[in-house]
Amino acid sequence: MSKVLYRTYRPKTFQEVSGQEHVVRTVLNQYASGSIAHAYLFTGPRGVGKTTTARLIAKLVNCFSPKKNEPCNACDACVSIASGQALDVYEIDAASHTGVDTVRETVIDSVRFAPNVLKKKVYIIDEVHMLSTSAFNALLKTLEEPPEHVLFVLATTEIHKVPETIISRCQRFDFKRISADELVERMKGIVKEEGVRVDETVLREIARHSGGCARDAESLLGQVLALGEKEIGMTEASLVLPATQTVLVEVFVRSLKDHAAAQAMTQFNTYLEEGIDLRQFVSDTISWLRDRLLETVGGKTNEFSIAFLQTAIEELLATQQMRANEQLPQLPVELAIIKICGVDFHKQGVDSSRKGKSEEIIVTVAPPCLPAGRGFSLGEAIDEPPNPPTVFDTVPIISLEDVKNKWPEVYEQIKSCNASLPMLMQSCEVCGVEGEHVELGFEYGLYVETINQEKNRRLIEGVFEQVLGQRLRVKAIQKKSKHSEDEMVGELLQEFGGSVV
Ligand SMILES: [Zn+2]
Repeated sequence: MSKVLYRTYRPKTFQEVSGQEHVVRTVLNQYASGSIAHAYLFTGPRGVGKTTTARLIAKLVNCFSPKKNEPCNACDACVSIASGQALDVYEIDAASHTGVDTVRETVIDSVRFAPNVLKKKVYIIDEVHMLSTSAFNALLKTLEEPPEHVLFVLATTEIHKVPETIISRCQRFDFKRISADELVERMKGIVKEEGVRVDETVLREIARHSGGCARDAESLLGQVLALGEKEIGMTEASLVLPATQTVLVEVFVRSLKDHAAAQAMTQFNTYLEEGIDLRQFVSDTISWLRDRLLETVGGKTNEFSIAFLQTAIEELLATQQMRANEQLPQLPVELAIIKICGVDFHKQGVDSSRKGKSEEIIVTVAPPCLPAGRGFSLGEAIDEPPNPPTVFDTVPIISLEDVKNKWPEVYEQIKSCNASLPMLMQSCEVCGVEGEHVELGFEYGLYVETINQEKNRRLIEGVFEQVLGQRLRVKAIQKKSKHSEDEMVGELLQEFGGSVV
C-alpha cells in the first residue's frame, strides 16, 4: 500500500545523488574532458546509489542535448532509459539464475554489434560477483578489447568475490554509506514534494534505523507517509518504526537493581529467544546505564545509586572482552547478572575486592520457566537463600481480578513509555487470565493487529512485569462490540415480534 518512494524519487541528475560526491565529481570531469571509461566497477553497501548512478551515466553518454554535464531528462534517449525501454541499455541482475546465462550468451554475443538507436550500448550488471567462472571469463575477454560503442557498469556489494582480473580492467569506485545528515536532507526534499509535514525527529529516527542505506530510509519513510496524516510526529510514526530496545533495556536494568537475578536472567534469555542481537543488547544496556550515570552525577536524578551504575557498567563491559563459549554465547552476561545482583549497594557500596565472592551472592532460585539447557547452577548459594524468595518460586498464576486492579497502573506506565499505544489501550478491556496468559479485548481488528505486533506486545509485557512483578504473555483479541450485539438483539426481536423487558 505504501508508495514506493525509492522509485518515485530516484535521482534524475548527478546533482541529486546523495553522499557520493567523490564518484560524481570524477565521472563528470571525465565526461567533460571526453575521457569516460569503457568499464566502471561500483562497489559498496546495498541501497546507496550504485545502480542509480549507473543509469545516470547511461543517460549522460546517450543524451541528445545534455545541459551542463547533466542529462536533459527530456530527449528520446533519456526518456527511454528512465522508463527501462531503451533497446541499447541492458540491465542484468547477476544474482538471478537467468542473469548468469544472459551475461554469457546474450551480452557477450551482442557486444560486437553497433547500438540500435543510441550512441552507446550500456551494460549494467548488478551483483556481478554472482557470475560463474565461465561467465567471468567470457566477460573478461570483452573487457580486454572493448568495442568503442560499448560501456560497462558493474556493481557489487561483495568486491572480494570479484576476480582480480576483472577489477583491474575496470575503473573502480567505492560507494559509501550515506550519512544521517544527508539522508535527512534527502527525506526533507521528499516530504516537501509529498506535501506532508514530518518532524525532523522522525526523519532522524528513520535515518538511524537505515544505517546509511537510502533505499531502507525511503522504504521506512514510505510506510510513515502511508499513515495518511498531513502532519507526522513521533507519536504517529512510532506505530510504524521498528521498536527500539530502550524499553527492554529498562526492564532488564530494574531487575538488576532489585537484585532479582532469576528475573533478569529470564528476561535476558527470553529476549534472546525472541531474536534480539546479544552484542547489540549489551552495548545498548551499557549506553543506557552510562546516560543514567551522567544524569546521576549531574544531580538530575537519584533513582539509581552511582555504586550500582558503576558496577553494572563494569561487569557488562567485561563481558565484551570475554571469549564466549560458542554453544553458550550468553554465558558471560549470565555470570555478570549474578555478579551485579550479588553486590549489596546499600551496605558496602562498591568494594571490588569482595565483589562476586560466593558468600555475598544473593540470588533467588532459577524460575521454572527458564529455558531448558540454559539453567545455571548457583552451587551452595541455593541452600540458604538470604533473601525471601521471589514470586518465581511459586507457579506464576495471577487472577483476572489482580490484573484488573492493577490495570490503571499498567495504563499509566504504558503512557509514560509510549506516546501512541495509550490511544489504543484506552478502549481495551482485560478479558481473561489463564496461567501466565492475559487476553486483552479490543473492538477493532486493526487495534488487535497493532497490539499483537511484537514490539508493542513486548512493551506491554514489560510493563506488566514491572507492575505485577511477573512475566505474563499478552495477547490481543477482538471482542464482540456492544453495538453489534444490540443490532443482533434488535434483529431477533423484529423476527419474533418481541420487545426488550
Ligand atoms: Zn537527454
